[in-house]
Amino acid sequence: MPELPEVETIARELRPLLVGRTIASFRTDWPRAIRYPSPDEFAARIAGREVLDVDRRAKWLVMSLSGEGVLAVQVKMTGQLFVVLPDAPVDKHVHHVFELSDGLELRIRDTRKFGRLGLYRRDEAGAILGSDEARELFAEFGPEPLDPSFTLRDFRRLLRARRGRLKTLLMNQEFLAGVGNIYADEALWRARVHPLQSAAGLRPDQERRLYDALREVLNEAIARRGSSVDDYRAPSGRGEMQNFLNIYGRTGKPCPRCGRATRRIVVNARSTHFCSWCQRLPRGERQAAVRATLEAAR
Ligand SMILES: [Zn+2]
Repeated sequence: MPELPEVETIARELRPLLVGRTIASFRTDWPRAIRYPSPDEFAARIAGREVLDVDRRAKWLVMSLSGEGVLAVQVKMTGQLFVVLPDAPVDKHVHHVFELSDGLELRIRDTRKFGRLGLYRRDEAGAILGSDEARELFAEFGPEPLDPSFTLRDFRRLLRARRGRLKTLLMNQEFLAGVGNIYADEALWRARVHPLQSAAGLRPDQERRLYDALREVLNEAIARRGSSVDDYRAPSGRGEMQNFLNIYGRTGKPCPRCGRATRRIVVNARSTHFCSWCQRLPRGERQAAVRATLEAAR
């Protein structure tokens, strides 16, 4: 599933193609994907709006439109966005089409149809209001790990306020926005901390390593245009980061640092990859960690 680097790549590649263009009309054969407002209202309200910017929040694409509108797109597992000429071939997995005023089309292809769209509104202060307009759309999301204002001190404060194990915590969008299975595993490996280590039990040097590792791996993945491990495609094609992953999906293959075989366990129903030599669990945490894994497996 696309994470922060993949959605960031989609946003960066769509930006020059969409900014300044106007949405002439919208059509869909899968109206259930529209979260807000109703599908008819969505189509009526989006027509005539100019795209002012294309950005990202957490794992969502956020397009600012004229008239204080915001088109939010959650690509989920298999969503792919392309800007094409109208005569480009359409396959049965293209479910949403935005016709642009100069004839181009923004298409969303989504084989499993888990993607979601919504047309929201900004208030005077610039906040994106959710469907009930009473609270912000992204109110429950944690900070952006690459935001320049997100400091090591902030990360420490968040970690120390939490119970729970690092792998689970890093993937929790209320804790930190945008990190999923791939980059949680990669960051933990780089930081040399065990995925089942408790957040509150980290030493200060480990907290710093994890903070640096997260930002490094996310930045590297953006530079490589994301990991095309499943269905993820950027508007201009496959990413490259899948060729540079050190631990994710490498079960049984040698750890690039020590050569020992990569291990795989299941944490909260998600595959978790780590090196049992480079990522040691403190002696005092072993029993509790084993118990947590067994409970999760039940
Ligand atoms: Zn190792």
